[in-house]
Amino acid sequence: MRIAEIAPPWVRVPPEGYGGIEWIVSILTDGLVDRGHEVTLYATGDSRTRARLSAPFDEPVSLGGKGFYDAVHPMAIQRYDVIHDHTGAMAACLGALSETPVLHTLHGPFNPDVRRLCRMIADKIYFNSISDSQRSGCPELNYVGTIYNAVEVETYPFRSEKEDYALFLGRFSEDKGAHNAIYIAQQAGVPLRMAGKVVPGVDTHYFEERIEPHLDGENIIYEGEVGGQRKRELLAGARFLLFPIQWEEPFGLVMTEALACGTPIVADAMGAASEIVKDSEVGILVGEGEWDAMAEAIKSGRLEAIDPHHCREYVEEHFSVEAMIDGYEAAFEKILADRA
Ligand code: UDP
Repeated sequence: MRIAEIAPPWVRVPPEGYGGIEWIVSILTDGLVDRGHEVTLYATGDSRTRARLSAPFDEPVSLGGKGFYDAVHPMAIQRYDVIHDHTGAMAACLGALSETPVLHTLHGPFNPDVRRLCRMIADKIYFNSISDSQRSGCPELNYVGTIYNAVEVETYPFRSEKEDYALFLGRFSEDKGAHNAIYIAQQAGVPLRMAGKVVPGVDTHYFEERIEPHLDGENIIYEGEVGGQRKRELLAGARFLLFPIQWEEPFGLVMTEALACGTPIVADAMGAASEIVKDSEVGILVGEGEWDAMAEAIKSGRLEAIDPHHCREYVEEHFSVEAMIDGYEAAFEKILADRA
């Protein structure tokens, strides 16, 4: 098949630090090339790929997307059998006008605006959800399936002997609950290491107001944005990953990365967290926003009963790269058959 994969123009593919969508696009694109497809990747000019790279922009444009860039990027698309879009609303709208079939993988949660837009173009493009929980936010669209994100498990170190710290890794936005992580770690009496991206202008105020005052360089440590080796060391060494979210998490790649390292998750049952974390098997799941219960559960010794080996096996079984590429290949074939 001739396939166009469109990554957002905000972060290079694969990312050097923060960047969930771009990791998935990278793994998927290379995997499709390895299976003999003719793939063109639309991404920033500094991206690395085994596909043909087409770069409307030499370098990443501002994260969070100004409308102009979001519009220009997909306009570069030529003719293919199928176009697979990972960006936002702008490309979805342009896709609705395209003669070439478009698969739009939803990477964010639904809100009233996104729902309204998707319903307007529901019969014009195909959709893919990355969790069933995400799909439940607007179940009536033309879905080809739920295809889970994947982790290259072999690139993550496994470690069964853990150090005594909890880890928060991710975007420092209120949704991801970094401030909740601080509260919970303090209540549970566990040192907390934090690492992640503070998106300038978007999350700066939140970080300065809610996070920075608590950093003491001892019990609550912030390492900045991390990538590659350091990210893996932090994930593998942690007693558990703290994931106290307060939004409908569409997937949460960082959970599967932690499990790949044999590190269990402590999360509240919002969005895909309740789909990914099997309670008592690979982590602890408490009710939505129940931070005191979360601290109690950490102190209870329940985490010590979780087998790190099982965490890794669980990811291999449910979130493998093979399964993800199989899923997208099948989706493209379904779309082409439908159009024929
Ligand atoms: N990440 C990273 N360095 C950081 C913070 C995050 O490499 O300092 C990565 C993280 O490991 C994951 C991705 O960025 O691969 C974030 O994806 P996720 O689905 O967890 O969150 P979201 O896309 O909603 O921000």
